[in-house]
Amino acid sequence: MTHELDRSTIWPYDERGEPREFYYSRYGSPTLTSVEGELGALEGGEALLFPSGAGATTAVVLSLLQPGDTIALAAGAYYGTGVTFSALHKWGLKHVEFDQTGAPPDDVQLIWLEAPSNPFLTMPNLDAAVAHPAPVLVDSTVATPVFLRPLEHGADYVLHSATKYLAGHDDVLMGAVVGRDLAELKTFRTRSGISPAPDAAWLLGRGLKTLELRVRRQTETATLLAERLRAHPRVHTVRYPGLSGLISFDVEDPRTVETSTRLIVNATSLGGVTSVLESRARWEGDRVPPGLLRLSVGLEDADALWADLEQALNSR
Ligand code: PLP
Repeated sequence: MTHELDRSTIWPYDERGEPREFYYSRYGSPTLTSVEGELGALEGGEALLFPSGAGATTAVVLSLLQPGDTIALAAGAYYGTGVTFSALHKWGLKHVEFDQTGAPPDDVQLIWLEAPSNPFLTMPNLDAAVAHPAPVLVDSTVATPVFLRPLEHGADYVLHSATKYLAGHDDVLMGAVVGRDLAELKTFRTRSGISPAPDAAWLLGRGLKTLELRVRRQTETATLLAERLRAHPRVHTVRYPGLSGLISFDVEDPRTVETSTRLIVNATSLGGVTSVLESRARWEGDRVPPGLLRLSVGLEDADALWADLEQALNSR
């Protein structure tokens, strides 16, 4: 069933003058609620949508934490998450990085994992994290519920940049948080006004219909490309744990490779139907190896993608 797109910001009260389920769209709207229901079912919890992944990050930490609290952030996670946390330092929130393949540090009030991390593609040790007394959030943008349902492993919250695989077509910016009881976060969303538009939610709902098909095909193609990249003499390191269409690999001259592809687009982001490739050092500086390229595999023919990569790797 297609989700109904309802752009209203208001709905009439009932015949006794009492608000019905929907009355003003900052509080909730039928389109959002319907898509949230579908995403919640995929993750095995209750979902709330936000205008972007970064908006979801801001909302969840401001709602859960207090000034003086510390977040343990997986080292090598999406660099923008650390940037968002740093923007909140002046409000008294702190963060420390740790190796998510081991146990989180003591004396933290929230554990922030990423499955797998972008662009290092390490997987978190969920057992070690859930043994810690602090709540555990897993940014599962890259794994998607097709490959991982973190709530089933004891995590408290799942976060998505729905801009990526969930929506899947590079035409909508959206974020999501999934948990067991998000009543407080929903109140915070209403009060802070970090509420998304119904059009974006509708596009996400359409993307979800093909999520599994897209992600399985992207993973199949990425598995083949990772194998061929490993055998190429100009490629040093290939990071590919499976679980998505995301690969990172190191070359001597990343700028030449990324500007020499024809089918693969030289652009940022990941998770869309179009393959994109970029050098991450342009954004992340010396946090990543200088030659690191991140490839998000789309739905193009696998051999055509390899032919494009091969000619780009061989160009000078
Ligand atoms: N989390 C991960 C793993 C990401 O890759 C991104 C964006 O690249 C975000 C969160 C932030 O999401 P958005 O760009 O939708 O704000």
